[in-house]
Amino acid sequence: KKWVYAFEEGHQGMRDLLGGKGANLAEMTRIGLPVPPGFTITTEACTAFYENGRKIPDEVWEQTKEALRALEQKLGKRFGDPENPLLVSVRSGAPVSMPGMMDTILNLGLNDETVEGLARLTGDRRFAFDAYRRFIQMYGDVVLGIPHARFEEIIEEIRAKEGVASDPEVSAAGWEEVVRRYKELVLKATGSPFPQDPYEQLYGAVRAVFDSWNNQRAIVYRKLHKIPDTLGTAVNVQAMVFGNMGDDSGTGVAFSRNPSTGEKVLYGEFLTNAQGEDVVAGIRTPEPIERLKERLPGVYEEFTRTVELLERHYKDMQDIEFTVERGKLYFLQTRTGKRTPQAAVRIAVEMVEEGLIDKETALLRVDPEVVVKLLHRRIDENAKLTPILKGLPASPGAGSGRVVFDADEAEAWAKEGEKVILVRAETTPDDIHGMAVAQGILTSRGGMTSHAAVVARGMGKPAVVGAEALRIDEAKGEAYVGDIVIRKGDVISLDGGTGYVYLGEAPLVEPTLGEHFRTLLEWADEVRRLGVRANADTPEDARRAREFGAEGIGLARTEHMFFAPERIPIVQEMILAETEEERAAALEKLLPMQEGDFTEIFRVMDGLPVTVRLLDPPLHEFLPNYEELLLEVEELRRDPSRAAELREKEALLRKVRALREANPMLGHRGTRLGITHPEIYAMQARAIFRAAFRLKREGYDPRPEIMIPLVGHVRELELMREVVERVYQEVREEFGFDISYLVGTMIEIPRACVTADEIARVAEFFSFGTNDLTQTTFGFSRDDAEGKFLQTYLEKKILKDNPFIVLDRDGVGALMRIAVEKGRSVRPQLKLGICGEHGGDPSSVEFCHMIGLDYVSASPYRVPVARLAAAQAAI
Ligand code: ADP
Ligand code: MG
Ligand code: MG
Repeated sequence: KKWVYAFEEGHQGMRDLLGGKGANLAEMTRIGLPVPPGFTITTEACTAFYENGRKIPDEVWEQTKEALRALEQKLGKRFGDPENPLLVSVRSGAPVSMPGMMDTILNLGLNDETVEGLARLTGDRRFAFDAYRRFIQMYGDVVLGIPHARFEEIIEEIRAKEGVASDPEVSAAGWEEVVRRYKELVLKATGSPFPQDPYEQLYGAVRAVFDSWNNQRAIVYRKLHKIPDTLGTAVNVQAMVFGNMGDDSGTGVAFSRNPSTGEKVLYGEFLTNAQGEDVVAGIRTPEPIERLKERLPGVYEEFTRTVELLERHYKDMQDIEFTVERGKLYFLQTRTGKRTPQAAVRIAVEMVEEGLIDKETALLRVDPEVVVKLLHRRIDENAKLTPILKGLPASPGAGSGRVVFDADEAEAWAKEGEKVILVRAETTPDDIHGMAVAQGILTSRGGMTSHAAVVARGMGKPAVVGAEALRIDEAKGEAYVGDIVIRKGDVISLDGGTGYVYLGEAPLVEPTLGEHFRTLLEWADEVRRLGVRANADTPEDARRAREFGAEGIGLARTEHMFFAPERIPIVQEMILAETEEERAAALEKLLPMQEGDFTEIFRVMDGLPVTVRLLDPPLHEFLPNYEELLLEVEELRRDPSRAAELREKEALLRKVRALREANPMLGHRGTRLGITHPEIYAMQARAIFRAAFRLKREGYDPRPEIMIPLVGHVRELELMREVVERVYQEVREEFGFDISYLVGTMIEIPRACVTADEIARVAEFFSFGTNDLTQTTFGFSRDDAEGKFLQTYLEKKILKDNPFIVLDRDGVGALMRIAVEKGRSVRPQLKLGICGEHGGDPSSVEFCHMIGLDYVSASPYRVPVARLAAAQAAI
């Protein structure tokens, strides 16, 4: 079996066998770039090493020695030859880039004799002993397990003795002494002298690379990134070149484009007279690569030319490591460069324009999840700020403002024109008005799908949640992080994209859909089949959604309109009404308000469909909290002078008690409200139709789609549809012409999926409400699941992902398939969409594409994500 490949025997496609580094070294060699020669021991050898009880199999070692002999011949140098020694580096390299594995060992092959040879050959004793001590140090650290600090101590002593401050000032004699002391240290620490035989050195280094595949750091990293343990790492053995041989030498790192902005300019750093690890060690500050132009114009010219070539070859931005030895350029590594979301988009688009890649490749290059970051304000990365706190990055975007601990207060302050950050242990529906006016939300409890996180994402508001180091004393109006005290009114800033919180006002940068992103999304629109709509409850949301490319509204929730502070009393009047007349009067007051809401939304979405969901939450959500009310009543009972007030409150308490439910999620809500209180749905339908008719008369093109929530039985929908149609006829009478509209239902109960053929006879569209459908399918209440046991489910791998974020294809998805099939079997033109939060999740969008939905609907900020994800699903 072939265990070892010379660089010239491999190529780019052999990544699994040669590792990423090895495959790219081979590829660069193959296309004729100046790469120091060498060979790669395969990842299979790593597996064999473990099967062999953590010993290098004989055949692997034999082939390694053979490859080394070939290398000697090619270079005319010999391993261990004092006259002309071959020195190599030993570099690990797994198929996927993986920090945490063995560090690179440089200058292997040096010993007490070859170091003299190196000194003679280069005429530079200081250089030779510096190289030797670096080797002993690296080898001692990574192969022999002697702590790095023990070596540093010795250098420090020598520096002190020579009276110099930095390593480059240490003399040749100084390094000779360091080498002597290092060897003593090795002897003392390991009981054996530092290995002088280069083959023994190599054997130890290769074994150490294989061993490092299973060190703790590597195992943890693989677990975190879901990398299989079976891959194994390859070992690269490569002839050394030296960047530390004087001022015409050096080493550097470069990106073929700016990895931060994506601009097509060479971007890199170079350190003169230095060896590899010096650049990262930060001992000396590297210079920008352009300086090479003056210092070594020939090298610079060759370098820029080759970088261009590498980019054209790999057709992606490259991250390149190189070394110059006495004016001669060598490439030591190339790989696909990491980049910011902004750069990812710009590079993908410009590479299409340059003819390097096609549009589809460009679309696949950009991670939809990552572009969300482009659509939010961010804290200026150039600002030097120290965070005081980190929580979960629940809703991207950044904001600054004064700390308030109470939603009412947030609202009051905001009315005064203050910017506020709402800080709470966690939020509940009672806090919505405070969240709505805040620049950002910070909570000390809760996860990525807590109430605060979900609502904030829906509002497109920055939120950091579950910042557990934060202690809040609401009564005192203070919060604490360690010994830092944050008082009410103090200014803080937070970045919901990173989860960091800062004291004071941080400078923000505005989001830009930007020219390149716009172009990429236009390409996405060309290839996607799925439509993309937005979930939007207000005209502002609708406007933003349209700007981001939404082709309609897939979900307009009407209860948010009911929650407006000035309307709550009227809504309460409606709920508390004792008689039909009282209720009718309250509804009469709400009607023009709702009509106004719909008019604005339809106007903004002129010519596009708008799905309006009729009232969904249980009525007691609009009433005061039961426990609080109970306390108030008890207080009033003790005060005879307030008897009238007491009677009023008692009446309210009775009503609230009557409306209380053991399990509101499965209680009196959605269509069940419509069944028991048809007048509410009738009022909403009337508001929708009036708005639409009026706009139509003004020359607009409104396209209302009325959606009945929480239907599980076809009869429910039939009754509600009758209500809607009756109201339509009434409004039609007033206006004297027709408009077109649809009546459909949200599919969010398993029974609706299973009886979708019956329901589709009455419904003109289905919209999958996958938030509730996930709850009802699993029988999980979301708040309880996420607060209590879901984390354990994920840890125990019962579930792979949080099903409230990534659609559960096997369960919820299977029900959706049934509903799609049954629904279309009786109504082939049935319009199908999804309006749960999953509509903005790339993997869920892919599934919606697969099962043939017509559109997905996502929060406005996720519309671009959905456009891109829908395109990727179609490619
Ligand atoms: P990492 O994966 O941590 O980047 P590398 O194997 O790329 O580790 O090695 C780190 C650095 O060591 C390289 O960037 C280069 O500067 C230096 N290096 C590695 N091999 C050689 C070599 N054969 N000659 C000169 N320098 C080398
Ligand atoms: Mg490297
Ligand atoms: Mg629902």
